[in-house]
Amino acid sequence: MSDTKVRIQDDLYMAVNGKWLETAVIPDDRPRTGGFSDLDQAVEKILMDDFKAFAEGSKVSDIPEMQYATALYRKVLDTERRNREGITPLLPLLEDVAAIRSSEALNSRACELLMKGVPLPIQVDIDTDMQDASKHAVIIMGPDIILPDTSYYAKDHPAGKRLLAAWKDMAAKVLAFTPLSEAEQKQYLDDTLAFDALAAQKVKSQLEWAEYVKCYNPMAAEEAEKQVKPFDLCGLLRALYGDDAPETLIVYDPKAIREMNSYFSDENFFLWQHWAYVMTLLRHTDCLSEELAALGKAYQRTLTGVASDPVLEKQAYQTVSRLYAEPVGVYYGRTYFGEEAKKDVVDLVHRIIDSYKLRMRKNSFLAEETKAQAIKKLSTIVVKMGYPDQIRAYWSKLIFDEEDSLCLAMDKLAAVKRRDSFDKALKPVDRTEWLMPGHMVNACYNPNANDITFPAAILQKPFYSLSQSIEENLGGIGAVIGHEISHAFDNNGASFDENGNLKNWWKEEDFAAFKALTKEMIDQFDGIPFHGGKVNGELVVSENIADNGGMGVTLEIMHTLKAPDYQAYFKNWARIWCMKAKEEFIQLLLARDVHSPAVLRANMPPRNFSEWYEAFGVTEDDNMYIPPEKRISIW
Ligand SMILES: [Zn+2]
Repeated sequence: MSDTKVRIQDDLYMAVNGKWLETAVIPDDRPRTGGFSDLDQAVEKILMDDFKAFAEGSKVSDIPEMQYATALYRKVLDTERRNREGITPLLPLLEDVAAIRSSEALNSRACELLMKGVPLPIQVDIDTDMQDASKHAVIIMGPDIILPDTSYYAKDHPAGKRLLAAWKDMAAKVLAFTPLSEAEQKQYLDDTLAFDALAAQKVKSQLEWAEYVKCYNPMAAEEAEKQVKPFDLCGLLRALYGDDAPETLIVYDPKAIREMNSYFSDENFFLWQHWAYVMTLLRHTDCLSEELAALGKAYQRTLTGVASDPVLEKQAYQTVSRLYAEPVGVYYGRTYFGEEAKKDVVDLVHRIIDSYKLRMRKNSFLAEETKAQAIKKLSTIVVKMGYPDQIRAYWSKLIFDEEDSLCLAMDKLAAVKRRDSFDKALKPVDRTEWLMPGHMVNACYNPNANDITFPAAILQKPFYSLSQSIEENLGGIGAVIGHEISHAFDNNGASFDENGNLKNWWKEEDFAAFKALTKEMIDQFDGIPFHGGKVNGELVVSENIADNGGMGVTLEIMHTLKAPDYQAYFKNWARIWCMKAKEEFIQLLLARDVHSPAVLRANMPPRNFSEWYEAFGVTEDDNMYIPPEKRISIW
């Protein structure tokens, strides 16, 4: 597939994907298609067929957890019961929230509400302790906001007002199903929007979240409690942990905590209470009647430009594949992923790590001590390939009763998940836990564990195939592997050591040199016009460092091949980024995704490498040319 009208030297992405773009159709129930999404659709189709067979009894899985997954799948499909019961299964929880009419009442029941998934004035959660990654920590931050980013609340934002109106319209329609009077519905809605608008002025923007090292702000629990009065934070911790309650917690969003009184206080208590009621309601629409489920997705459809909801069978599959992620991923891996492919890709990972070490040794801006530290970090990276060997005991606790409504069953599962998560605060980190299930088309690096995960589902064409050439595999999965490894040395990952602990292992001048290169990478992308907006170089810098690192290390391996086909390498690199998306979705990604737009991921990194210029004879007369002094090499 290639478009003869566009010269590859001018636009690699279009030359490779142009023909595909002309004819590709975005499915009605998705915001995009191509590349990652194509694989995702294919995996979804395979597993949907299997769940249909499980539900009909014509197929049986020997994984015990899959029986509960199948039972839940059937409950989603039982629309006769769902439609008959309507909002009824949720009413007890809504009444619970409505009954809390003072901060004293909230404080006395905060733990119970937290376990039931009712949003508190601040979020309390569990995460790995960045400074000692063998432990967990309790973390606190401000509430989630309605719009995708704080920037959407600015008066002149092109989409903010329209999106908020769409959200309000949806919430009003769903509220009409509750026992509240019309006047109350209006009041609840107005208060919800007021709470949201106040919180949006205090919580972090996506740009601020992107620098996640800055989340690490340890604070004595008693000190934090003073900041969030009248909310009784220490009381909540005691209710959760008794005498074992942690004395220190980590404040992920200091301003939102410090200035919480601007959105939660005794004077404006009902803003929170009405907000909590509405949010609890909206978080549950999916497990109520079909009408409520469809209404509850309206805002998301507007936000992403998706034309219609997935068919019921797909919704059922998506629900169980999310809630039973690990068992479904292991089932997928065992059934559809070959050992031969697994061994081949693991070998490739080790080859890439070795090659990375070689590049570190040749590095021109690091002192020998820093190089040694970087190589130590590379040597200890743990590789999680395909799917886990065993399903953790936790997943067998995800049970419910046969006669439960869908809503009750889902609430029971969510409660188990929350309890399990909060119990982790007192336990060491389980490093065998996988961050992504086997059926997910993605890959990741975990800076707190110094490990990389490649789910079975991404190990397919065009990323990887035993039948593809080595050059194509290097331009596909190879560059993705290199990308994930590079996250160990991106602007965030660089602050963590080989054990995943937040620790400075750099010589001061080396880190300064790295920072200067990071700045160059920010500038290379910053301000590039895209779909009426502009790329924010700072938001996407970590991923661009990773893309360029992934390309550098795989090109290093290309050099070792006999008569390497560089054209095949770069063409497959462009192929994996082919994407066609709804305009709304493109705008959403531009505003909050830490990855650059797909076309730029295809077209920008090659320009930094001499191999690109040699492979296609690219000169200063071509669009994809930048002069040697502007080419950036970090890793
Ligand atoms: Zn990445």
